[in-house]
Formats: sequence, C-alpha cells, structure tokens
Amino acid sequence: MIDLRSDTVTRPTESMRAAMARAEVGDDVYGEDPTARQLEERVAELFGHEAALFTPTGSMANVLAVRTLAGEGEEVLCEASAHIVRAELGAHGAVTGLTTRTWSHSRGLPDLVQIRRLFAPDLGPYFVRTKAISVENTHNFSGGSVTPIETMRELRSYADTVGARLHLDGARLWNAHVATGVPLAEWGTQVDVLAVCFSKGLGAPVGSMVVGSAETIAECRTWRKRLGGGMRQIGVLAAAALHALDHHVERLAEDHAHARLLAEAVGTDPAEVETNIVVASRPDAAAYVARAGDAGVRISAVGPETIRLVTHLDVSAADTERAASVLASL
Ligand SMILES: *Cc1c(COP(=O)(O)O)cnc(C)c1O
Repeated sequence: MIDLRSDTVTRPTESMRAAMARAEVGDDVYGEDPTARQLEERVAELFGHEAALFTPTGSMANVLAVRTLAGEGEEVLCEASAHIVRAELGAHGAVTGLTTRTWSHSRGLPDLVQIRRLFAPDLGPYFVRTKAISVENTHNFSGGSVTPIETMRELRSYADTVGARLHLDGARLWNAHVATGVPLAEWGTQVDVLAVCFSKGLGAPVGSMVVGSAETIAECRTWRKRLGGGMRQIGVLAAAALHALDHHVERLAEDHAHARLLAEAVGTDPAEVETNIVVASRPDAAAYVARAGDAGVRISAVGPETIRLVTHLDVSAADTERAASVLASL
C-alpha cells in the first residue's frame, strides 16, 4: 500500500526515535521540561516572535491562537474552505464562542477586495464586530497553494490601517518556505500569532506550536491547561520536532517534486501544484478512492467530487512512480 491520504501518516524514522529516547525531560506543566523549552525558544526565534508553546495538535494550536484575537460574540474573517472553519469541528464557535464570515478564493488566498467589504469593526449595536483576519498558508483544501509574501505584506498593512489583528494557520508553512525560499521569519512577522505543525510534512509523530508575543503565549499556556492540554514529560515529543527541524525541512522539496509527478497522472496541471498536495475532480470521488485503494494506492475524498493526494517522507521516488502509473491506469 502506498498511502497518499495525508502527510500525517508518516512514522518516526529510526534516528528520530533515537533522539526521542535520549531526550532530557521534566514536568512541562511546572515549566521544567528542558527539551520542550529548547524547542519553544528555537521555534519562536525562527518565526521572529518572542515566545512559542507546544500543543498536542494543530487544531488546539489554532483554537488557542485565534482566541487571543477574538472572543465570545466577536468575529473573525477567513476563507470559506479554511481548515479553521471546515475541519476543526466548529471548535472556534463551540469553545471560544466567536463567529466567522468568509470570503471565497479558488486558491484559498486572502482577497483584499472581499476582505475590505466584509471588515466591520463597528457598525453600531446590532452588528457583530470584526476583530481579526485568519489566513492559511499553505492552503490545504485548495491543493497546497502558497500565499505570496507580497500578499501577506499588503494584508499586514491593511490590517494595521484598520486595526485588525492577523492569525496564520501555518500547519504547512514549512512547505511554503521551501517552495519559495522566503525565510520563515518573513512569514512569521507579518502576523500577530501563528500555528505550525510538526506532525505533517516534518514527520514527527505528535505536536504543533503556537507562536506569538510573550503576552499572547502566556495566555495560550493558561488556556491550553484549561482545555486539558497541559502535558508532562513532553521532551520526548519535542525531541522528535527538534530532530525534524534539523533533518526534514529542506527535503520537503522532494515531496513537492513527487506531487508534480502525481498531478500529471490524475490530470491536474503540474504548474498548479506548488507544494505537496494535489487535488483533482472526479465525478464520484468516493468510488474513485475505492478503486485506487483496491489497486494499492490510498488517497482521500475531500468533497463529493474532489480527490486529494498528499506526498510525504514515507513516499519514496519509486513509490511515487508506482502510484502514478496505477492512478494513470484508472
Ligand atoms: C492538519 C492541519 C491543521 C491541524 O490539524 P491537527 O490534525 O489538529 O493537528 C490545521 N490547519 C491545517 C491547514 C491543517 O492542514
């Protein structure tokens, strides 16, 4: 079986497991896990912020991050197929009590014309107040598309003019960095708070992080505990993430090349594939996914007529070629 359902399916490599086994640990709820501290300091610096906080999932990192920008009865704007509104089971409404309004973009990118129309910080006592704008880079359900750094700069400047705050769901920001060569800190410093994942393309078994100002992260630490996410000897997990930062970032370029090969096999223009995700239309996505599975290639349906393929650390060049020939034959 070649598993292209998601880049979350990777298993830790032998050397990652060895790094985990060696990790120095302590009780992180007491702030005493040295490996977690090391990871938090390193990641904060990478993205040009003061502080960072390890979380069990990217979904929790997003919930913690967004709630520092908007609370109960307040509004966040985001793209209509953003992970925060499509794939976090309504957590931002259910837990934080905020509401969202969305703009639509075929590549999932921020659209300043639409954002300007939606943004309403104070239309009087009958209208919800917009507090923040959330963007996703790379954009999962739009096929791993990258928001250009120029667009992020324009969005930052608009947000500063109108007093909006910015959240970045950067679960796969590593892929955007490798695809464009734009430094991580360039992306990070355009926003007030961001979330990144170690358990996707970087290949760690567990773990994500919220990154922001010291004040923001202190608030996230309190809420992480409140939501039951205070963990103890997490140095073993932080060690996997540190290992991934050392060894698995630059290699994402291989995943991107593999994704372009697969795109050709399923009839998607490879020029549209910027990172490690390929989406394609099929009249009956579920049936196509079943046939691919029978032929030894696991892929997923992310809509009734949309299939998704994701390349990652555990899919070699040979696997990619084999999957491409299987999918082309379907
Ligand atoms: C995977 C993902 C997340 C977080 O997912 P978890 O499974 O909760 O770790 C957040 N945003 C995007 C865009 C993602 O792809």
